[in-house]
Amino acid sequence: MAVTSTIIELKNYIGGEWRQAMGDDVNVVINPANQEVIARAPRATKEETEEAILVAKTAFESGIWSNMTTYERAAYLNKIADKIEENLDELAMLEVMDNGKIKTEAEFDIADAAGCFRYYAGLIMAPEGETYQVPEDVQAMVVKEPVGVAGLIVPWNFPMLMSVWKIAPALAAGNTIVYKPAESTPITAMKLVEIIEEVGVPKGVMNLVMGKGSVVGQTIAESKDVDLVSFTGSTEVGREIMKAAAGNLKKISLELGGKSPNIIFADADFETAVDYALMGIYYGTGQVCSAGSRILVEEGIYDKFIERFVERAKQIKAGPGLDESSQMGAINSEAQLNTILKYIEIGKQEGAKLACGGHRLTENGLDKGFFIAPTVFVNVTSDMRIVQEEIFGPVVTIQSFKDEEEAIKLANDTDFGLAGGVFSGDGAKAMRVIKKVRAGITWVNSFGTTYNEAPWGGYKQSGIGRSLGTYGLDDFQEIKQININLDVQPAGWFPN
Ligand code: NDP
Repeated sequence: MAVTSTIIELKNYIGGEWRQAMGDDVNVVINPANQEVIARAPRATKEETEEAILVAKTAFESGIWSNMTTYERAAYLNKIADKIEENLDELAMLEVMDNGKIKTEAEFDIADAAGCFRYYAGLIMAPEGETYQVPEDVQAMVVKEPVGVAGLIVPWNFPMLMSVWKIAPALAAGNTIVYKPAESTPITAMKLVEIIEEVGVPKGVMNLVMGKGSVVGQTIAESKDVDLVSFTGSTEVGREIMKAAAGNLKKISLELGGKSPNIIFADADFETAVDYALMGIYYGTGQVCSAGSRILVEEGIYDKFIERFVERAKQIKAGPGLDESSQMGAINSEAQLNTILKYIEIGKQEGAKLACGGHRLTENGLDKGFFIAPTVFVNVTSDMRIVQEEIFGPVVTIQSFKDEEEAIKLANDTDFGLAGGVFSGDGAKAMRVIKKVRAGITWVNSFGTTYNEAPWGGYKQSGIGRSLGTYGLDDFQEIKQININLDVQPAGWFPN
């Protein structure tokens, strides 16, 4: 990775070659904490993207990766994990500069990314098998095979981690890859691909194509030579991907947005509930798909909860990610900053009461970057746009509910179904409620934790398919039925 007078020159990686941008159109990448230019990234054309797809297709068909033993592929994955760990400090620093998150969050992401490669290295070697008793003298069995060329499109909120959630299982299963990072956060993508090259993954298996979603992403989603598209991003673009993928009926995996409820009963451990509710919305500056952006609190403790939550929210120190005293980082881009500020205005116009925050932070040098104070809206109703639409920032709404039934009704009153949480000291009640929350990722007496071992994904308009765990590998595998005739003689269907 070339660093010229502190500006990083990024390149695409196609067929084992590092390539400059072909045209004049270059993406200038800024640090959202101070708006300094930190990198210049190529903007690939449709033709360059198609070339990368063809390279991946040729590599797949050659069997150079898919025909390797699972032990060999697992060894590569473990080496990638080693290198990620060796470069953890640098990767975390680049992620902070590129995304705006605080250093501890970035360090956690990078360590988790290494863990994800190790998890799939282990999983691909795990003994597994299915055979079936069928009503003939036939042995039926199932084998799993790579899907082919995997198109991977990732967002900017967890640039490295969201990439690895796709790359690790895709490689483990034997696919070849065309990978498009988000334009606003392409830096660690290049570093990761450098690592993949360094450990010796054969040329053509991993291809990196940076550029606009409407060009590179769209070409990947439409291509007849891409067998699967795995996308993480907004519900709106997810719909476009689904339409584009219809051309060759490619497999799709969509990890989309959310508006997740966090239900807090009066019998919960109060301080634990407040603490996780804060983490649920302000971790990642609220730019987290599974953010607990709708807090639902039982009537009896509604005022007390708001008072304590607001008191603690006001103490959260927003600032540049590399400043060790910062507890919440920057908003990733000016466009996202404006979206969040727009929603804050909408909330006020809708009649919600602003309990704290609600403004851009500009003091102590923060005016150079994109910072927003932790924001809380109370006295909201379910029909408000700030309660229904994903804001993707440090903005939370707090609603009250009377009883279990109303809590469940409010929790499910959304088009999304990504995540949800319940806090209660009554185990049976917590279980009853969480089972009724229509969401793919749920927590009882905690919020926001993620494990490589457990499936991640949403109900309703939050997506299709699952990342992580064994399900995450399934997304990148075809299932083949093999029937072995144990009684080898003519079938005799047609008279002879
Ligand atoms: P976007 O949907 O705008 O973009 C995601 C990716 O898709 C980017 O790489 C983008 O490229 C690309 N893209 C944009 N348009 C197209 C297109 N027409 N065809 C193909 N690709 C396209 O989402 P954001 O990057 O803004 O990410 C935030 C969203 O992602 C939130 O809604 C969030 O909830 C969701 N998300 C979901 C997660 C989950 O696990 N469910 C995890 C993380 C985020 P470009 O570089 O041009 O922007």
